[in-house]
Amino acid sequence: MEKAKGSIAKQPTWVALSTPQGKAALAVIRLSGAQSFPIVQRIFKGKALGNQHSHTLHYGHIQMKGHVIDEVVVGLFRAPKSYTGEDMVEISCHGAPYIVQQTLDWLCEAGAELAPPGGFSQRAFLNGKMDLVQAEAVADLIQAETKFQHQIAIQQLKGRLSNRLTRLRQLLLDANAYLTLSLDFAEEDVAFAKPDAIYAKLAYALKEIHKLTRHFDMAQRLKEGFKVAIIGRPNVGKSTLLNALCMEDRAIVSANPGTTRDSVEASVQLNGLSFRFVDTAGLRHARGKVEQLGVERSVQQAQQARLILYVFDARKEPKSDIMNQFNLIDNKKTTLMVANKADLISDKRKHLLTNEGAYLCISAQKGTGLQSLKAQISAIAADNMPTPESVWITRARHKQQLEQAQKLLIEAQKGLRQRIPPELIAHNIEQACRCVGEITGHVTHEDVLSHIFQHFCIGK
Ligand code: GDP
Repeated sequence: MEKAKGSIAKQPTWVALSTPQGKAALAVIRLSGAQSFPIVQRIFKGKALGNQHSHTLHYGHIQMKGHVIDEVVVGLFRAPKSYTGEDMVEISCHGAPYIVQQTLDWLCEAGAELAPPGGFSQRAFLNGKMDLVQAEAVADLIQAETKFQHQIAIQQLKGRLSNRLTRLRQLLLDANAYLTLSLDFAEEDVAFAKPDAIYAKLAYALKEIHKLTRHFDMAQRLKEGFKVAIIGRPNVGKSTLLNALCMEDRAIVSANPGTTRDSVEASVQLNGLSFRFVDTAGLRHARGKVEQLGVERSVQQAQQARLILYVFDARKEPKSDIMNQFNLIDNKKTTLMVANKADLISDKRKHLLTNEGAYLCISAQKGTGLQSLKAQISAIAADNMPTPESVWITRARHKQQLEQAQKLLIEAQKGLRQRIPPELIAHNIEQACRCVGEITGHVTHEDVLSHIFQHFCIGK
């Protein structure tokens, strides 16, 4: 179904708490819709809001039937110059749950309806204030926990990805216009309209799709956290190292349920990047069934990691056969060899290990060498990253659509080479164009929309 703009004119006026639930100095209650001003006026004692300019603040009281509940400031935004493109009011009240609940109840009595999650952003999209990629970026921006997550979201919000996709769509529309021209003149015996030119346009589009999707895996990893597996024999200090990394960075450590022999995971932020360290305590020969399960999970965790910290006791030689044994060597992984318990060895041995063996000497217990270990970890992650100027695809939804478009365009190119009827080629290009349009929301389905917005928070 093509998007029906303007179909929201008779929509209800929505209200929601836009700040977190709970006690706070302030809370912001937001309304959007044609009736926002009159609805607030019914419970607001102060100036006549209908006579005020857009983008102004007004002091007053929230009251109903003579009962005053709070002293507030209301902000006014007139359509179309608001987040949603509709009339909007933001009430800044005191952040007491009772005040918030009472105000929401009164606003509903006065004619507003509670907004669903992402309701305001959905209206902003439907009113053409932003496309779908930008609306999704708003959700990502709110969720961003690291500098890089924030960077990706803000780039998308500013429209850099949207612009690239819009240009890609235009290119495909042009290619199809060319083909249609050849169809129109077919009866007049005009030669097939320059297949080479159309082929070249499709090749360009395919290159662009490749550029947009090639960083997906890395971008995904950045969003979820760069996975680092800590492996090594029992008692070498893996858990101590994980704790040391966490203590300094106040990470969250969570033991996976099921068995104590399982892996433990912690999120740590280093230099603006998010890492997920996994202490794969279970990597050893399994003795029983439960332990076998633990080993399998540990192996899985380690295999998924991009970086492996192989920890060994600095007093002994490293025996990294465990890497082969559990199939942990592949060319996408980097391994750092970490000699732990360096507090128990002589300076001479330390020198030997760091110089000749290129091992990293640390003492997880005493905290020595940790800074240099962290620096190396962040450098490896940063090396694997595309430049900040790159435009990234971070959502599976975007990737699926681009992959589908890619298949259709390859098919269209094949058709051009084989000189199949242009109608069939045009159909493939049209479908590819639709896929790109679905990402930005030029073309969209009701169910896709509600699926996207229901994952937003309430009040945004
Ligand atoms: P894991 O089995 O590899 O997870 O090893 P643990 O972290 O449980 O550590 C095994 C033992 O080594 C514990 O008694 C730790 O206190 C000790 N240990 C860990 N790191 C160091 C270190 O840097 N120096 C010293 N001296 N002992 C350590």
